[in-house]
Amino acid sequence: MQIPAYYADTYEEQAHTRVAAIGERDGAPWVAVERCLFHPQGGGQPADRGWVDGHEVVPVRDHDSGLVVAVTRGEAALPVFSIGQPVEVRIDLPARIAHAALHTAGHLIEAAGRAQGWALAANSHFPGQARIEFTAPQPDARLDSPEGREEATEALRTEVAGAIAQNLPVTWENDAEGRRIVHLAGLHSAPCGGTHVSGLGDLADVALPTLKVKKGRIRVSYSAAHRERS
Ligand SMILES: [Zn+2]
Repeated sequence: MQIPAYYADTYEEQAHTRVAAIGERDGAPWVAVERCLFHPQGGGQPADRGWVDGHEVVPVRDHDSGLVVAVTRGEAALPVFSIGQPVEVRIDLPARIAHAALHTAGHLIEAAGRAQGWALAANSHFPGQARIEFTAPQPDARLDSPEGREEATEALRTEVAGAIAQNLPVTWENDAEGRRIVHLAGLHSAPCGGTHVSGLGDLADVALPTLKVKKGRIRVSYSAAHRERS
């Protein structure tokens, strides 16, 4: 059994747990732990950086077992673990919360774009290249001129800033099919396996340069950080 602890608590940095399974992937050993703090890459969000008993690992979703498995990040091979062995796991928390802030800001910008009448086409929440892409099902004349694109971007910024000022809560639940559904209060809901900040007031320095239109897609690039934690 493996518990995806990163679903319940974005801010859990370390835990004492046990080895749930071991195996091999592309000829390299992996270890899966019971209390899994490690978020694998997915949903446009990068993988966590983590450690198992001090050995640096990268988590990967293993589609054969369905488990999140940890493989070595560097050159050094992982030691041989045994099932049931107690281990200490840890994540790079500053990197985690930076990813969670970018990812959650992406949901918020998606919500702001939908409020403009646009539909989500694609997203990426990777640092330095975060963006949400939309299509406009109805012709949107603002998108045809630089002034109009700035006006549309300003409408997004206003929506985003308002939700952050209200510190709307970010929550999740499993639906009837067992999918994890993430809610930004009443603003937005989406199936998502990513990590999120607790409330939109945790977001800081959310910046949206003027949107671009490329090949029929509205591209909203953005940057965001987590507020300073005491
Ligand atoms: Zn999400």
